[in-house]
This record gives sequence, C-alpha cells and structure tokens, in this order.
Amino acid sequence: MTARVVITIVLRVRAIRTEYRSLSGAASARRLLMPARETEAIILKTFPLGEADRLVSFLGRSSGRVRGVAPGARRLKNRYGSTLEILSHVQIWYVERETRDLVRIQQAELLESFHKAQSDYGLSTGLAVISEISELILPEHEVSEPMFRLILLAAREVARTGDWHLPLSYFAFWTVRLGGWLPRFDCCVSCGTPFGSKPAFYDTHQPGLFCEKCRRSGMQPLHPEARSLAERFAGERLDRIEYEKSLQLGVRELREAGLCWIEHHLERRLRTRELLETT
Ligand SMILES: [Zn+2]
Repeated sequence: MTARVVITIVLRVRAIRTEYRSLSGAASARRLLMPARETEAIILKTFPLGEADRLVSFLGRSSGRVRGVAPGARRLKNRYGSTLEILSHVQIWYVERETRDLVRIQQAELLESFHKAQSDYGLSTGLAVISEISELILPEHEVSEPMFRLILLAAREVARTGDWHLPLSYFAFWTVRLGGWLPRFDCCVSCGTPFGSKPAFYDTHQPGLFCEKCRRSGMQPLHPEARSLAERFAGERLDRIEYEKSLQLGVRELREAGLCWIEHHLERRLRTRELLETT
C-alpha cells in the first residue's frame, strides 16, 4: 500500500465520522425543535403533579381532549408562563408516548388569555362551570370543532360583557343541543299535549319536558319566555344578543334546565354549579 493510498483512506474515514456526527447531531436537534404534534388548544383543567410538574387537560382543535404532563411547570422559572391557566387559548406542542396515557407537553404559546376575567371572582365562577362541563363531557381524543368554537365564544363573551349570565345560559343550551339531548320544547314528552302559553316542567331524574298534568313533585318550570329564548339561541349568534332585563327569567331558567340535563347525562353533580349562587 502506498503512502498516498493510506492517507486517502484515513481522510475518508475521518470524513465519514464527521458526517455521522453532524447527522446524529442534527437528528437530536430536530427531536428537540420539532415535536411530534402541534395544535391550537383550550386549557380545560390543570392540577399539581409531583413536586414540580403539572397535569394538564386540554381540548386540541385537531386532537380532541388530551391529558398530558407539563414537566417543571410549577417551578418559579418555567417555560410555560401563564399559558396553562384555565381556558387559556394556546398553541401547544406535545409528544405522545406509546405506553402511557399522558402526553408530554413540550411548549405552549399564548394566543388569547382570560386572565383578567379569571381574576374577578364572579366571572371566574361562570368560567369554571364552562371548563368543568367541557372537561367532563368531551370524550378523549375525539375532535369537536363545534364545542371548541362554543367554549371560546362563551369565554370571550364573559370577558367582553363582564357578565356570565347570558354566555353561560347559551353555553349550557348549546352543549345539550350538540350532545343530542335537547328535548322537544313544544309538547309534553309523556302525553304529547302542546305547552302553548303554559309553562313546561323538568328535573334531573329524566330527560324531557312535562306538562302541568304530567309533572312530578320537585320539577322546575320552564316558562314560554325561556322556550322562545331557546329559539333565539338556536338561530342567533351569542355576541348579537343584547342581555336586556326582559331576558333575565328566560336566561336563568334555560341555564338551570341545561345544567340539569347535563348532570342527568353525566350521572353526577357539577362541582362548580353551586358556586354560581355565591356571586
Ligand atoms: Zn303531559
């Protein structure tokens, strides 16, 4: 072997090693910089996990409801800032792990915050009901564009108007409607008698609206005002409806009926519902 060939071989081996090092370096950099998944999301629930982490449930626009761990999120200096607050609208990056239910959240950027409304006790109770219902009602990994838009619309209207009554009523009504549990509003579920200008009645124990004759004890009324408001909710955008005094009864009754039907479907009480009475 001539000296020249030896030098060529040595140089080629060095070149291959350098190439390999730069390739594997680039690959690990890519793993850090380009996480597996990215989606627009709404934070639904978070709670402490271990000493420094946070468990986060979020509704991804393209992923459905997902639960994940945000490592180090409870450290004073962390990379998430205020992005993981309840109902924050964020862009989120996460990695799925094959053997575990929880994804690993790598990064989140704030698109829209409801921090100001959240810092007001009264408004935060309305927002808490919205996030609790969404967390309980949405199945994991099922994309729901209408619910995604509904949550954002309701939260925005709570923040914009400084009042949760109308947005929460609209949210409860539409959650029931999207879930397919909205009963007939025109006649009794039991005997078929049209309600006309008379009140209808409901409770948590059965779905449906009952007439005065078929009502059972303890049932709550749903007056014609509430039933005509339901028609407006079905056909008009929330941000175009003015919360006038004449709507108050309907707004309250429709919210209570909606929450009852949601509890009936979930087969459990909403933890945040009684907080509404404190504001
Ligand atoms: Zn009846």
